[in-house]
Parts: sequence; C-alpha cells; structure tokens
Amino acid sequence: MSRPTIVVKHAIVMPSDPRPDSFISDGSVVVEEGRIVAVGESDDVLKGYPQSDVVIDGSRSIVMPGLVSAHTHITGDFLRGLTEDIDNHFYGFALPLEDYLTDEISYRIDVLGAIECVKYGITCINDIYHYADSMARGVSEVGLRGVIAHKVFDVNLRNLEHDDYSRDEDQGYQKLKTNIKLIEDWHGKSEGRITCRIGTHATDTCSPELLKAAKEEAVKRNVGIHIHVAQSDREAAYIRRTHGKTSVGYLDGLGFFDENVLAAHLLLANEEDLEIIRQRGTAIGHCPVIYGKVGAYPNLEMMLAKGIRVGLGVDWLSMDIWENMRQAIAINRILDHGKRTMDASTVFHLATMGSARALGMAQSIGSLTAGKKADITIIDRHSAHMAPLRNPLQNTVYYANGGDVRTVIVDGRIIVQDGAVKTVDEDEAVDAAQQAAEQVWSNIK
Ligand SMILES: [Zn+2]
Repeated sequence: MSRPTIVVKHAIVMPSDPRPDSFISDGSVVVEEGRIVAVGESDDVLKGYPQSDVVIDGSRSIVMPGLVSAHTHITGDFLRGLTEDIDNHFYGFALPLEDYLTDEISYRIDVLGAIECVKYGITCINDIYHYADSMARGVSEVGLRGVIAHKVFDVNLRNLEHDDYSRDEDQGYQKLKTNIKLIEDWHGKSEGRITCRIGTHATDTCSPELLKAAKEEAVKRNVGIHIHVAQSDREAAYIRRTHGKTSVGYLDGLGFFDENVLAAHLLLANEEDLEIIRQRGTAIGHCPVIYGKVGAYPNLEMMLAKGIRVGLGVDWLSMDIWENMRQAIAINRILDHGKRTMDASTVFHLATMGSARALGMAQSIGSLTAGKKADITIIDRHSAHMAPLRNPLQNTVYYANGGDVRTVIVDGRIIVQDGAVKTVDEDEAVDAAQQAAEQVWSNIK
C-alpha cells in the first residue's frame, strides 16, 4: 500500500541524534513511502520537495522522533486506579486478577492502551503480557509499532504471595508454544510494524529448564527475549534460597544473557550484577513512575556510567512517557541529594535513541535521520505552559505533556491528527475497555 509524501515545514526540529540537545530553529522534515528522506534547515530541505501529498505547518510546533517505551504492559490498564495505594498490590492483587482475562477482554483493553500510547506520542512499545496475539491485533489496528512477547511462566501466579513456587511443566511449555505461534503468526507482519520476542516472565516464575528451553528457541528463531529481572524482594529471596545467587548471577549461570535480551527493572541489582549485564551486552528497561509508586529505585546512574544500553519504559497503569522522563530526573536528584547527574538531555535520549538501542532497533527508529522509518511526534509549543521558549529541549522535557501531542506519524502514516486518533474510534474503544475491565473486576472479592 502506498503511503503519502508528508512535509512538515518551519518547525523547531529536535532530531535526538547525534546529540539529544541539538535542534534546528526553522527546520523541515520530509517523509516518503514510510521513510524519512530529508531533515534539515527549511531553506535547504523545501527546495528539493516543492510538492507533497500532505503539508503540515510546523510553525507552532516542535518535531521530534516518536517516543519509544522499552518496557510496557498495555493490557495492565485494566488495573488502573485499583492498585496504587494498597500494600502487596503485585502478588496479592494484580497477579491473581490477571487470571480472569480472556483473549477478547485483553483485545479491548489493548486497543485502549495502544490509543493511549500514540496520544502520548509513543510510536513503539516493547510489551510482554498474556494473550499477546490479541495485543498484536490491537497494536496493529491502532497503527502503533510493537515488539510483542507472550508471557511464559510455569508457576501459578495466584500462589506466589504464599511463596508457593510449585511448577507446572506442561503449562510452561504450552505457554512457550503459544509464544512460538505468536512469532510464526506476527513476526515482521503489519508491514514490519509488529515484531516478536520470547517473553519469559521473570527470573523466579520460570524454572531453569523453561528458561533454557526459551533461550534455545530465541536463538534458533533469531528473536530477542524480554524478561523481568531483580524486580522484587520476593523474587530475590526465592532465587537466593533456591540457587544461592542473585537473580542476575543465577541467570548468567544459565547462559541466559546476551545482547538480544532486554531485562526490565533490575531494581535490586548490585554493582557486580550490573558488571555482568555490561559484559553480556544485555539491555535494561527503566520505568521510574512505577518505581516511585512502589517506593524502590534501581541505580540508573551506575547503569549509564557503565555504558549499559538503557531504554525508558512506562511499564503499566499509565503510558505517560513525559511523566517518566521527569521522574527519572526528580527521583535521581532526591537520591543524589541534589546532584544534577540526571538531566533533560539524558532522559530525552533514554526515551528516543536509548530505547531504540536497547531494542536493537537503532538503525531504524529513535531519531529523525534520513533513511530511518518515519516514526515522528509533533507537539504544540504555542501555549501558556510551553512559552516563553528559548531552549526547546528543556521546555519539552520539563513542561510538555500528552495534551500537547498534535500529530503522530508511525511508519509514514498519520495516526494522530489534531490530537485525535484517526485509525480507530476512541469513544467506542473507551466504552469497550470499560465493559471489558468490569468483567474482570466482578471477580474482586
Ligand atoms: Zn513489567
């Protein structure tokens, strides 16, 4: 299917690469057949492209690469407003409630989550959850780019809060088979917007045998792995008790880590653990808003100082990547007693090129660079909360929000126009998701 030629002209352009803080005051961007073909000073760029199907006046806008979430569960939107203020929310409430999801319920919530992503200016997510086939459908229909994995585990998630780690070998292999089917059905589909990974859920929820089998499948099929590592005290204590190691040390002993693995969180990783991650070339997904909610924070500074590939993620409950950028700064400054080690430049990099690199996609997304796929977010800067404006990066990272997102282009297609999603009916999607979530909530005791 042919895609329109799009010219965005006379905007402030923040390409994010080679430097996150570089910008063009009067810049233009040209998209042809789904790819960025020119980025630069308007005077230079527009001469070469006198005609196009779509012209977007950028004179009130800032144009940036589409934001990339390195760790996400869009289906987790069904837990919104239920878990934030309760103790033991994860093992005691969220995981047991996941049991009541179905493929149809998941699909409805996934459409909602995908709409939410694009309206926040996110153009690519890395997501692992139950019913990943439904997720791939929802993500594909909304027009988002997705790296999708099916949640593979061989414990009963309901029993974990009692430290019951009894294994169900058949269940584990069944879920791995479902993940393989997902790869066969979806990897490279929707004109390449959907790719797949193996989704071994976490260090403790998969047996060593299941982890090894999953790793073999990922290598054989040349796909990445998405896993939660060192995310909770319960997990760390279980791995220590059972294997006498940290979560990272244990997985490394299984030969699990390489550059195709993205490990979410590493909340409890020590320096030795991070050194292993660095040596193996493994990437990390970092989700500050969720860490603020649970009251724990990993050593982002050390991860970055070691040169580990780190991407910014929204995790679940909210896809607000703007808030994640700001909390990455705020939490680090509180922990560092005011040292300015984390700044706008660092977190904007994390949300763009950082996440793209973490996903092994730096050649195709993450910056406004000629030749890359046309994933572009355009925000309004002509507002009371964005003006006056001298430094676009500072104003964007510290003051922009989802309501400023006007246009979102994914793979050369305009998905959000004038702040509204074009591909699906948002009103219907909200109603459908509400009904679907209520079906799950009817099981809350
Ligand atoms: Zn997660």
